Amino acid sequence: MMLVSRWQAFSSSIFSKMSQLAAAHQAVNLAQGFPDFDGPAVIKEAAIAAIRGSFNQYAPSTGLGELRRQLAARQAEQYGLQYDAASEVTVFSGATEAIFCSIMGLCGPGDEVLTFEPFFDCYPAATAMAGAVLKTVPLRGPDWSFELDDLKAAVTDRTRILILNSPHNPTGKVFSRSDLLSLAQLAQEKNLVVITDEVYEELIFTPARHLPIARLEGMRDRTITISSTAKTFSMTGWKVGFAFADRKLSELIRIPHQYTVFCSATPLQAGMVAALKLGQEYYVDFREQYTRRRDKLLAILRQHGFTCKAPEGTYFITADYRQIRDVPDMEFAAWMTEKVGVACLPVSTFYADAAAAQESLRLVRFAFCKEIGTLEEAGRRLAERLPQALAEPGKA
Ligand code: GLN
Repeated sequence: MMLVSRWQAFSSSIFSKMSQLAAAHQAVNLAQGFPDFDGPAVIKEAAIAAIRGSFNQYAPSTGLGELRRQLAARQAEQYGLQYDAASEVTVFSGATEAIFCSIMGLCGPGDEVLTFEPFFDCYPAATAMAGAVLKTVPLRGPDWSFELDDLKAAVTDRTRILILNSPHNPTGKVFSRSDLLSLAQLAQEKNLVVITDEVYEELIFTPARHLPIARLEGMRDRTITISSTAKTFSMTGWKVGFAFADRKLSELIRIPHQYTVFCSATPLQAGMVAALKLGQEYYVDFREQYTRRRDKLLAILRQHGFTCKAPEGTYFITADYRQIRDVPDMEFAAWMTEKVGVACLPVSTFYADAAAAQESLRLVRFAFCKEIGTLEEAGRRLAERLPQALAEPGKA
């Protein structure tokens, strides 16, 4: 069968590819971002009780009422953002489905979607499925700043959506208040809807602060705020995501959801009701543990010749490896996985023109959502195997 044209630019995702390569070589998988530990037992127990009880049929398409009420309460308490649980909060099968439904609900053929590059891989795929066109504006390292003029120049009369991702995957950037103010002003001037992917909202390291763009004046009613329980509660396989949006926007994004998955898995939604009842001490501990993991991996990487800044948010470190080997990042990531036994991701795959990005970048992404012991094992392998791998003919 021929691939239909809208899929021609896409193949197996880099996350699947690198996880397969890591498994084939028994590498420590710091490529795909998923924790090697589970979230709190109380969440599991609540889902198990839901399965044993009466939560095994379809949930309402928009999500279990109790979960939507908890989500609305949390958004109000944490950020002062008020949403009506019935008409403005929607549960999806993961943030990726929420992003897909938002783009499908708001865009048609020929419409344009604007985002920053590097970007998470589902943005271009969802845009292509809607028949829309993705335009990108670069974030430039090492501090991943952007030029407002680049954004202004990229907006046309077909631009409908700006996709923002903060904290940002893969760079770890947390957009500052002044970044967000300039984006908010642009969105209002050009009448754009902002889809903001905030799945790493709880993965914030002092002194960074997460500010949802919906908080800024004039933004609540033109913003779809998307997040998920996956990272915050360390249950990436449950795929319970959600979106907050004004009633009119919520109506639009609920339609594709209704006709694709209809509803998210009912007992897992019930489990997440328990997650949202966890107190502040959960979040304090969560951030402490992640700060330890981040600092551990940073120290290991720096010790072995990588150049990297501490990320302000997310559970990713992007590391410059040019002092180790000056080869394209695909080659470096495959070599690290096969010869050193530590898998990482080539950052060029987060660019629209990955071939051009490979020429100019020497960056790989490491995930630190792992037990300290796992990170130490990666450190041991770098210490033992990196010198050996570099000593092989033609590798220095
Ligand atoms: N968001 C995670 C990452 O960036 C996993 C993505 C995926 O596997 N699709 O690694």
